[in-house]
Amino acid sequence: MRTATLTTGEKLPIGKILCIGRNYVEHIKELGNEAPAAPVIFMKPASSVIGHGEEVVIPAYSDNCHHEAELALLVGKSSKNISEEEALSCLAGYGVAIDLTLRDVQDELKQKGLPWDIAKGFDTACPLSEFVPAGKVADPQDLVITMRVNGELRQNCSTALMIHTSAKIISHLSEIFRLEPGDIILTGTPAGVSRVAAGDLLCAEIGGVGKIAVRVKN
Ligand code: ZN
Repeated sequence: MRTATLTTGEKLPIGKILCIGRNYVEHIKELGNEAPAAPVIFMKPASSVIGHGEEVVIPAYSDNCHHEAELALLVGKSSKNISEEEALSCLAGYGVAIDLTLRDVQDELKQKGLPWDIAKGFDTACPLSEFVPAGKVADPQDLVITMRVNGELRQNCSTALMIHTSAKIISHLSEIFRLEPGDIILTGTPAGVSRVAAGDLLCAEIGGVGKIAVRVKN
């Protein structure tokens, strides 16, 4: 079973991974999407998670896999209909995720109005760092996310630019899905997504939170 690990050594079995799409204006523009009234929600299975130093395997049915560096929230307390004001209190920790996305496959599915699962949920599609305890992060909307591919800076953005804040996302999701310990929420990616290739070293980092580095299989 895949587990989320806190920097304290505590481990939680990973439950559902809820992901938010289109949460930064500049990223919506770069993909030519419309800004949604409510957050776009999709899921990744726990089986798609890999850890620091593990290998990404891009499925043969895609020729265009993109990196999306994102702030990840780890739920520590069972929560339903939690208010925006109380929302952050349900978190056990904060981490860094790379929401790997088969853009060519996703574009085709979008056009047909079909679900994105095979573009977002394949094995190795969710590199995930360790989580720092929630108390170590004073303000989740004041963090800098960077994504480097082979050392070259591709994404560099503050979480202050999220359309829906972490608290608002948690509150909204908890109205639809009961949040349970071990659930993970990916809060969306800023602009700068780009194609990754065989052999690339992907490194996503959030200052004060952590980093995750993985290599794409040759
Ligand atoms: Zn994403």
